Amino acid sequence: MKQIYLDNAATTRTAPEVVDAMLPFLREQYGNPSAKYYGLGQTARAAVQKARQQVGRLLGVEISDNPDDPFEIYFTSCGTESDNWALKGAVMCKEKKHIITTAIEHHAILETAEMLEKSLGCNVCSRQNACSVTVLPVDRHGLVNPADLQAALRDDTAIVSVMHANNEIGTIEPIAELAAITRKHGALFHTDAVQTVGKIPVSVKELGVDMLSLSAHKFHGPKGVGALYLRKGTRLDPFLNGGGQERARRAGTYNVAAIVGMGVAAELAMKGMEEEGKREFALVEKLWQGLSSRIPKIERNGHPEQRLPGTLNVRLEGAEGEAVLMRMDMCGVQVSSGSACSTGDIKPSHVLLAIGVKQEEAHGSIRFSLSRETTEADIGYVVETMPKQVDLIRQMSVTWKG
Ligand code: PLP
Repeated sequence: MKQIYLDNAATTRTAPEVVDAMLPFLREQYGNPSAKYYGLGQTARAAVQKARQQVGRLLGVEISDNPDDPFEIYFTSCGTESDNWALKGAVMCKEKKHIITTAIEHHAILETAEMLEKSLGCNVCSRQNACSVTVLPVDRHGLVNPADLQAALRDDTAIVSVMHANNEIGTIEPIAELAAITRKHGALFHTDAVQTVGKIPVSVKELGVDMLSLSAHKFHGPKGVGALYLRKGTRLDPFLNGGGQERARRAGTYNVAAIVGMGVAAELAMKGMEEEGKREFALVEKLWQGLSSRIPKIERNGHPEQRLPGTLNVRLEGAEGEAVLMRMDMCGVQVSSGSACSTGDIKPSHVLLAIGVKQEEAHGSIRFSLSRETTEADIGYVVETMPKQVDLIRQMSVTWKG
């Protein structure tokens, strides 16, 4: 059976060009980039610098050919590490320790903020420099209100972290406006751009951010490599201490093959990005029109226009998300639901609850996330298949009152 993969917000297929570029660095070019004085090390060092330039170009950042020059792109092991580093590094290096974030952030931000509050909060530090966290609400589309941020900023605010686009509902936040408010106040601004980089144009200069997280596996690069953009002159404590890698800010021997793969993935993503965005945006509209005209009691979650081009999140009355997922998988279609299974408990998504979706509705939510590999025929197949599956599930459901 043909497989239609529509869970690209979770991860994407590694592009064949990426795999080809990585292989020599797993086989014969196994040198350590920190070994400057012989050929094998120099080749690896040059490859890492080339990848830094490629990733830089994707974000509108200039990087010189010389690895010893200062740079603003730091390689990490994933988006989660970049997010952890931004928050922990900012709070650790400052007297000010107040963090502002939002209710719809990825757990990499929310759990890190919570951990910092617990370990550096009032019970641990003296009151004047204790860590505390303000979580901003969002509206029914998932948008943060800049006036809420303005009101939440305090004299002791160290960092504001607001995601560029949400991974579940796809809503794109007004980052340039939020960053301008924050920087005027004198605090650092970080954005988790894991879902936008490689999918829509991202310029760190236009956004006006101090820090930005990204992850290669979300744009057809390999898993296990990410990066943090860190604006020149930004104070941030190292996250991993040890060797002098990454200007002594992120220690640990380089994952050269993965970094090379990330560079190639960045180049591929830049080619025809705007056209691809328009194509996916139109495919999502087609998917929504097809589903909403065939399935009764279906609603859309997230902003209909200010959104990632390839993301559609819907909620279905009287149909459990997990049941839909399983039936769609049996039809060869992979999607994801609005609930996460943790320790045997199925919990509704915090993002859906934050936009005002009721607990039972959140359980009936499905996310489709497209990529440049998704075809019009794939969308046609989903529009044909899914209504029948939802109908079957509803016939067996005790909650369906259709
Ligand atoms: N932030 C967002 C918005 C994400 O969607 C994800 C992954 O789903 C992450 C962070 C974590 O990225 P990684 O899987 O590279 O750790």
